[in-house]
Amino acid sequence: MEGKDNESHCKRQNPPYAVSTVMVHGASRFEPRTGAVSVPIYQSSTFRHPALNETTGYDYSRGTNPTRAELERTIALAEHGKYGLAFASGMGAISAVIKLFKPGDHLIVSEDLYGGTYRLFDEFYRAYGFSFSWVDTSSVNLVEAALKPETKGIFIETPSNPMMKVTDIGGCAEIIHRRGGLLIVDNTFLSPYFQNPLDLGADITLHSATKYLAGHNDTLAGLIVHSQDALEERLRLIQKGEGATLGPFDSWLTLRGMKTLALRMERHQENARLVAHWLRKCPQVETVFYTGFEDHSQYTLSSTQARGHSGMISFYLKDAAFAPALLKNVSLILFAESLGGVESLITYPLVQTHNAIPEAMRLSAGVDDRLMRLSVGIEDAGDIIGDLEAAFARCGKRGG
Ligand SMILES: *Cc1c(COP(=O)(O)O)cnc(C)c1O
Repeated sequence: MEGKDNESHCKRQNPPYAVSTVMVHGASRFEPRTGAVSVPIYQSSTFRHPALNETTGYDYSRGTNPTRAELERTIALAEHGKYGLAFASGMGAISAVIKLFKPGDHLIVSEDLYGGTYRLFDEFYRAYGFSFSWVDTSSVNLVEAALKPETKGIFIETPSNPMMKVTDIGGCAEIIHRRGGLLIVDNTFLSPYFQNPLDLGADITLHSATKYLAGHNDTLAGLIVHSQDALEERLRLIQKGEGATLGPFDSWLTLRGMKTLALRMERHQENARLVAHWLRKCPQVETVFYTGFEDHSQYTLSSTQARGHSGMISFYLKDAAFAPALLKNVSLILFAESLGGVESLITYPLVQTHNAIPEAMRLSAGVDDRLMRLSVGIEDAGDIIGDLEAAFARCGKRGG
């Protein structure tokens, strides 16, 4: 294949188009009846049956809807899986996946993961009899050491949120497959443009499509991709049975956002690289966490399992007292909770994304009052850096 040589190609298609191409055209490329290039929004809750025991393939939109089905087929191609399922949010998708397990089952989970995922597991599933070990999964030895007789799954984010630790997907797959369990990878931070966990041995990959996939800070969506027939039957039943499905309009917004995924990810990556290097030289900043630094302790691992670094950076301020001033004085960069959209956002994980995590655990994962997270958008890099420079100038010097 010509073109960008490190792009991944969709082997389930003939010809095997690159992810960027699949994202532009979607799975079905156009609507066959009218030739519409943009998939119609089938805003219908129910579908007429031609006759008794006959169906068009669509009956009731909680179960299946043509706009959602196009999104599900498209993300399945992009993630090199057989099946895709769309949910009303990332949390809806994660909750569906956990229902594949049973009370009594134990899961090993990345310790610094999205706070909402922590809350879902700890607040709800723990009460239902599931158990979880929160582990620094960037060490396969620690993962191995956390195994119990009842361990049935490993759930990881890589890179992790917000400390940008990288977990060896293939290594975790091997550990859990030895005992017939499932490896689940939350691929939100890199998107299928930069990383395909199923190719590396994961059983299930999932996304908060709210972030890079939809990409415009205008909709919530969650996506699951996998290739196992036995799981598909169960996941479809959970999706339809619980009803946290994605509506037609939000499915369409996600599809539309995904068309430009490749362009956006390249720009996010380039801007983040410039911002990360600038932050390193900033006198008010102590440490910068960014997987694209060649001296990041897991640079080699991330280069072997991913094709790029997205727009996510976190950093420690030298002094927690700088935090309020920084958040107040950014102007172009918006102080808001989320990531992966075209607009640059700054987040204070302590009070926002990771507020649900108990203090001792949060601190042990590195999330303290000096930690900031930046989702670098696709604006002009000079404008983003200029905005940070102006905001830092108003923070004063350490102790000053
Ligand atoms: C935002 C996020 C989620 C939750 O997704 P929602 O769409 O907000 O429900 C899960 N995982 C990661 C890594 C996230 O960033």
